[in-house]
Amino acid sequence: MSVSPDRFAALWRSLLPIGRNGDGGYVRYSWSEAELACREWFVEEALDRDLDVEIDGNGNLWAWWGSPDKSSDSAIVTGSHLDSVPHGGAYDGPLGVVSALLAVDVLRERGVRPARPLAVVVFTEEEGARFGVPCLGSRLLTGAVAPDRARDLRDRDGKTLADAMAQAGLDPDRLGPDPARLARVGAFVELHIEQGRALDDLGRPVGVASAIWPHGRYRLDFTGQGNHAGTTRMTDRHDPMLTLAYTVLAANKEARLQGAHATVGKVDVEPNATNAIPARAIAWLDARAADEATLDGLVEAIRKRAEDRAGRDGTAFTLKAESTTTEVSFDNPVSRLAARELDAPILPTGAGHDAGVLAGHVDTAMLFVRNPTGISHAPQEHASDVDCAAGVDGLADVLARLCR
Ligand SMILES: [Zn+2]
Repeated sequence: MSVSPDRFAALWRSLLPIGRNGDGGYVRYSWSEAELACREWFVEEALDRDLDVEIDGNGNLWAWWGSPDKSSDSAIVTGSHLDSVPHGGAYDGPLGVVSALLAVDVLRERGVRPARPLAVVVFTEEEGARFGVPCLGSRLLTGAVAPDRARDLRDRDGKTLADAMAQAGLDPDRLGPDPARLARVGAFVELHIEQGRALDDLGRPVGVASAIWPHGRYRLDFTGQGNHAGTTRMTDRHDPMLTLAYTVLAANKEARLQGAHATVGKVDVEPNATNAIPARAIAWLDARAADEATLDGLVEAIRKRAEDRAGRDGTAFTLKAESTTTEVSFDNPVSRLAARELDAPILPTGAGHDAGVLAGHVDTAMLFVRNPTGISHAPQEHASDVDCAAGVDGLADVLARLCR
């Protein structure tokens, strides 16, 4: 028994309108109206399947097939996230949730009676697009982020995570590590759209992850002298925007030289006026590399170039790591089983995932579905219904092996 592309498309289309923007991109920030509507959609779909839905203290949703035996560590968990980056694609996150629900259907139609409980999970704030810390739901669950720090995280409007959760009817005092829940998870499998074109190059619809590159987010502060754009002589300026601009170019060049990735995709400028030399500029650097030594070397090279340039511009520069993630290897029995079962190509990825957080605690596998555009975190991200159906079947095959 397998799922048809039309059947995939039917469930997929029921989620598509929620949080869609005029540009075809999605804005589904955690605890926003759109994300809450996505969560409601999930709860309804889970209840339609007679799954027992619960929400944990960190706001992650769990839909159980078979009761979670509190004394056992045998549950098989699959799922992903429903939140998005600003103007992101439709597939990043939701594909893993929709596929998990359909995989449950497929297993039932195949007559599989799981010997181990199976859960579909939706992790909250995976992208970190609202509160700045990616994989926040899974990191809180595993204790990688302290609850006090999480409660105080603020969005762009200054609203704290605690307030946003309270507004959604949750008790922010319940945020924090949940070792009992984590101990019940025996394996985690996350299906995700590929964020690159490797599967397309190989002509294969589904792949299995080998590792996630180490990566980090760094805050870059550039401080200068705010002044009049018309009256300040060019030679008298201490313009932090110049140091910032140079640093963006230097980051790009260093990343190319070292076979790594560096991106500056977010900046804040003060006072942000057309006719004023800025007093201050803040930028966020996203840096990733195949190993930690290369990543450290990359960030140090960027820091050095920015400091040198700040000296010439008469500005001040500081770099601070806001979050860093070490390399994640998926070399474990569950991942090896998935690769064998699907006879799928094995791919590394530069993107972080809840699966990467879970992998430090639970045997975890990731499945990727072909994305012919190779584009991610943008509206052009795409997978065909045929490939998505193949992803559901592959996920069901893996889960069937794991839960018996
Ligand atoms: Zn994702």
